[in-house]
Order: sequence, then structure tokens, then C-alpha cells
Amino acid sequence: GLHGGKMERIKTGTTFNDIAGVDEVKDEVMEVVQFLRNPRRFLDLGARSPSGVLLVGPPGTGKTLLARAVAGEAGVPFFSVAGSEFEEMYVGVGAARVRGMFEQARKNAPCILFMDEFDGVGKQRSATGQESDDSVQTINQLLTEMDGFDDNTGVVVMAATNRPAALDNALTRPGRFDRVIHLTLPNLEGRAQILEVHKRGKRVDEDIDFRKVARATAGFTGADLMNLMNASAVLAVRQGQTLITEPLIFQALENIHQERMGHFGTAS
Ligand code: ATP
Repeated sequence: GLHGGKMERIKTGTTFNDIAGVDEVKDEVMEVVQFLRNPRRFLDLGARSPSGVLLVGPPGTGKTLLARAVAGEAGVPFFSVAGSEFEEMYVGVGAARVRGMFEQARKNAPCILFMDEFDGVGKQRSATGQESDDSVQTINQLLTEMDGFDDNTGVVVMAATNRPAALDNALTRPGRFDRVIHLTLPNLEGRAQILEVHKRGKRVDEDIDFRKVARATAGFTGADLMNLMNASAVLAVRQGQTLITEPLIFQALENIHQERMGHFGTAS
């Protein structure tokens, strides 16, 4: 339908096994997983359902992956919508979309309702009146829906942003997005673990020293490391090799560095 039509229901087979280098973060969301697995048990004990979890971190650090993994671990449906879906030409459509989206989520509870590019929705309402009426209406509808969670609907909202400063303060009050989880660039150990995840299902030489690769990739996100492993596989194919070897990985890494330099206009 028109309202909330772009919300996707995804059956996620993603688990905590697919996300690495973020052990503390997994611990933080475990409570949400446990709630979703058995909401009744929580509610019978008078425990408040977790309402909103805000995932903050640079692009490619695994925010979407984490939200999917929470749904996968709990075995519940995962509904996904991008913040940009609420930016509408016509006043009121954004708010109607929000309403429709929560309606669908409630029908399928327990579930995860994931909002990507959340800064697009929760823009700081400025006193200067610069925001459109529509953006204010959309946020207000979102707040209304989340405040309605007092009756424990079994819908856990997870939202991702890489610009937390752009969010409306009203969104992070208790009962709304009262849990904020930060995803950061992985450290050496984290990068080594993420590389382990992304070598799965690939033909890799047993002799590869992945710690060495991890040391050479400071500043890389999980998405960058995934790209590196994929680029290495592609190189192997191109060069007619049957295995991903360490030199191939370093060659792929060199290519990536060259491309990045290219973005700064440096001649190669
Ligand atoms: P964006 O802000 O650009 O949407 P994001 O933080 O949501 O980024 P994801 O889309 O979750 O990042 O990450 C992209 C891909 O990078 C994932 O599907 C996964 O393959 C890989 N990836 C990112 N972080 C990790 C991680 N911690 N462990 C394993 N893989 C990761």
C-alpha cells in the first residue's frame, strides 16, 4: 500500500557468528535478544520491554549487520526501512508511513523494526523554523508510536545513524531510544577476527598470516575488510589461481590504497 509500502520484511539467517570484533556490543544487545525470544517471561516479571536501540557509528562498522543478527539470534522477523523513505513531497505522508510501519510491525511482534539512515528522519527541529512541517510531523508520529510502547507491544526498534548530532534530542529520552550503542573502527584483534569471518566460504591458502593482514589494515572498517577479501578472490580468479594467497591479499590491498589515493587526486 501507499503508507509504509517500502518497508521490507527480511528473513535473516544472520547470527552473532557473522559479526566479529564487537564482543562488548554483543553483550549489550543480548538482553534484547533474550526479550525477543520470550517477551512473556519478561513482561510477567514486570520487566519493561526494551523500546529503542540507537546504533551509532561510521559507515561500514556493522550497524545493519548487528540489527540483523539480533533478529536472527532471536528468530524473529526483521523489518527494514530507510530514513529517506520518510522524506516526502506531500505533507503528512511521512507521518502516515510511520504509522503504517508500526502497525505492520505490531501485527508481526515480536520483531525488530530497523530504521537505517535514521538521521534523515530524526532531524533536529530547529527553532528557526527551517525544518519543514512534514519533517516535524514525521518525528512527532514516531515519538507517539514509541511512547505507545508502554503497553509492551513486543516491537523493538533499532535505528542506525552515523551523524548522532543531527538527531532530535526528543528521540533519546527514556522510553524512546534510551539505549545507545556505539560501533567503532575495529582494533587489531577485531580486524583479525573480522578477517576470519570473511575468509569463510573462500578458498584461502592455509599459510596466510591474517594477523599480518590485520596489522596492515589499520583504519579499515568491517565493510572495508569484507571488500578486501572479495577483491582478493576476484584477483585470484583473474590471475587464474585456485587459492587466495597472502601475496594476492597484499596486492588487493595495494590496489585499494591506490584507489583511495586517486580520490585525493594523487597521480599513481
Ligand atoms: P552503513 O552506515 O553504511 O549502512 P553499517 O554500519 O550498517 O554501514 P553494514 O552494512 O552492517 O554497516 O556493513 C556492511 C558489511 O560489512 C556487512 O554486511 C559485513 O559483511 C561487513 N561488516 C561490517 N562490520 C562487520 C563486523 N564487525 N564483522 C563482520 N563483518 C562486518
